[in-house]
Amino acid sequence: MIDHDVIIVGGGLAGSRAALEIAQSDPGLSVALVAKTHPIRSHSVAAQGGIAATLKNVDATDSWEAHAFDTVKGSDYLADQDAVEILTQEAPDVVIDLEHMGVLFSRLPDGRIAQRAFGGHSHNRTCYAADKTGHAILHELVSNLRRYGVTIYDEWYVQRLILEERQVKGVVMYRILDGHLAVVRAKAVMFATGGYGRVYNTTSNDFASTGDGLSMTALAGLPLEDMEFVQFHPTGLYPVGVLISEAVRGEGAYLINSEGRRFMEDYAPSRMELAPRDITSRAITCEIRAGRGIHPDGSAGGPFVHLDLRHMGKEKIMSRVPFCWEEAHRLVGVDAIREPIPVRPTVHYSMGGIPVNVDGQVRSSADDLVEGFFAAGEAACVSVHGANRLGSNSLLECVVYGKRTGAAIARYVRNRKLPAINESPYLDETRRQIQSLLDQDGPLRIAQLRQAYQDCMTEYCGVFRSESIMREGITRLKELQQQYNQIRLDDKGSLWNTEIIEALELRSLMIVGEIILTSALNRQESRGSHAREDFPNRDDGNFLKHTLAYYSPAGIDIRYKPVTITRFQPQERKY
Ligand SMILES: Cc1cc2nc3c(=O)[nH]c(=O)nc-3n(C[C@H](O)[C@H](O)[C@H](O)COP(=O)(O)OP(=O)(O)OC[C@H]3O[C@@H](n4cnc5c(N)ncnc54)[C@H](O)[C@@H]3O)c2cc1C
Repeated sequence: MIDHDVIIVGGGLAGSRAALEIAQSDPGLSVALVAKTHPIRSHSVAAQGGIAATLKNVDATDSWEAHAFDTVKGSDYLADQDAVEILTQEAPDVVIDLEHMGVLFSRLPDGRIAQRAFGGHSHNRTCYAADKTGHAILHELVSNLRRYGVTIYDEWYVQRLILEERQVKGVVMYRILDGHLAVVRAKAVMFATGGYGRVYNTTSNDFASTGDGLSMTALAGLPLEDMEFVQFHPTGLYPVGVLISEAVRGEGAYLINSEGRRFMEDYAPSRMELAPRDITSRAITCEIRAGRGIHPDGSAGGPFVHLDLRHMGKEKIMSRVPFCWEEAHRLVGVDAIREPIPVRPTVHYSMGGIPVNVDGQVRSSADDLVEGFFAAGEAACVSVHGANRLGSNSLLECVVYGKRTGAAIARYVRNRKLPAINESPYLDETRRQIQSLLDQDGPLRIAQLRQAYQDCMTEYCGVFRSESIMREGITRLKELQQQYNQIRLDDKGSLWNTEIIEALELRSLMIVGEIILTSALNRQESRGSHAREDFPNRDDGNFLKHTLAYYSPAGIDIRYKPVTITRFQPQERKY
């Protein structure tokens, strides 16, 4: 058994920021961070557009209250406003902290941090490092981890959470290099395992975003919050789905349909291309459905619309969004200086997740907390994004709540003893699970079943939803789940067996997908990213509340939790 005071699962922005906070606040603590990728290959590294904070470098009239209002309105009034106040009040300090750590933000001519426009934000407040902001921040954080003595287990897959008598005591993890299994015992466990974009067939997320932390939490009998709210980013590069950052529209690009028209004037006339993502994604989907999409040969009726940067000019494109230019050029052969980029919505972000309080401690119900268990970042739901996240608020959440959760953990573990664990049943169980995967010998390849599952989620729980379609989807998902024991692994060895990891990840996807679909079926209204064709209006009377979904193989139990409202009463949401 391996012992640490604290084990953090996830080396992205949230996990790294928390680890650093703990190590800095109490250098005597033994802090470990485990990631199935190398930490600097976490999805955070791919974040492009920026991080929001009211530094007022570009717009002196901005304020944290305006940032809070934009966030709550963007969330369609489902965000918990106490959590949003913390997020927006602490934003300027955490960005300055990052800059002191060495993060190279883009600058104004006078040397202060530059800030750009972003969807749903009423002021120019997004700080950025060209269109590689995640890369700039994560590299700095991870190099600081080493400096402060955090132990890093990279390329270990955490397979199980150990929860006994309402207390989390550790995790079981698998070393991808050689198949070695280990129990880690800790006074506090933190999940910062990121999102689940891979539940769908088209996503901007990396291959590791498979929702493992969410499924382990659900399998331990703990609830997941607001899982029906899946963010579709409006501008996924067609056909691959990778992201063309909102920064491109922030810098002035247009969305154009097959008639050559800026169609956003029909959907959000005051914000146009900088409307929030839920509205813009629905607008693109409606245009495509109405036959005003574009085909690769340029004719009408096709599967994408155009993102047009040409009027911005070469110099602005290459200095502000060079990476987006490169993506379009490298992946689909489009030179955005001369031609428009083909785009359509792509699954991007998980508003829901592991329910936590504002100190990052995990909830077992609306009123109770779990001992020894914390979460932050995209895997958690605190909830600052409610039913729809604004761009550049996620990196901010990772840093603000990563730091706060780290500080809370450092306080929590003080004067506590390591819990008692009998490790053998856990090792036996995880070993058996792996052995049975190696032993089963069905006709299916992992990729085949995964593709069928991802297609099913995309077809039955996409941008628009309805009861009859989702019911059909649940039946289909169950059929696919039954086929899990018919997959065959070709690699039977223990050295670098990535098939085992893919099979375990597929199990995570299947559990998370079922929870998303069931939560979506139960929310009989349209709010933020959750658009029901059979219930087109927001229904505050019945649904101004958070979903808590409790998973069990027999079925999912749906309960609810009230929304915290402090200063902004729900209003109609118009842009
Ligand atoms: C292409 C793209 C661009 C984006 N751009 C922006 C932006 O400009 N601004 C913004 O605010 N947001 C942006 N976002 C969203 C934002 O980047 C993410 O929400 C955020 O970085 C998530 O960070 P995280 O620390 O929660 O998780 P991640 O960075 O996803 O890290 C998850 C970690 O968990 C580990 N892990 C997962 N499962 C296991 C397991 N079973 N065992 C061990 N380790 C495990 C992984 O290895 C990884 O280290 C973007 C997202 C994408 C996909």
